[in-house]
Amino acid sequence: MKHVLVSYGLSAESVESYGRTLRKYYLNPTIEWIEAGHEASGGPIAEPGYYILDYCEVPECCRPKGPFKSEDEAREWSRQNLVGDLPGD
Ligand SMILES: [Zn+2]
Repeated sequence: MKHVLVSYGLSAESVESYGRTLRKYYLNPTIEWIEAGHEASGGPIAEPGYYILDYCEVPECCRPKGPFKSEDEAREWSRQNLVGDLPGD
């Protein structure tokens, strides 16, 4: 996500508030079933499954993260790995 922050030239304050937005998003991210062969950033998806869509304002920028066997598994992984040290409320 750093690419977005840098390209928008955000102030430290905005970065913090953006961090909060990201945290909120990755606690309950958009998860989609994606079929093998679906065109994605970095090349077609190889394996079908549930994927976490990145919070990113640049279309086709971030590759979906996955695959996971279920939406629950994807959400859990997001909470453990993507929320990380993002600032809390
Ligand atoms: Zn991106």
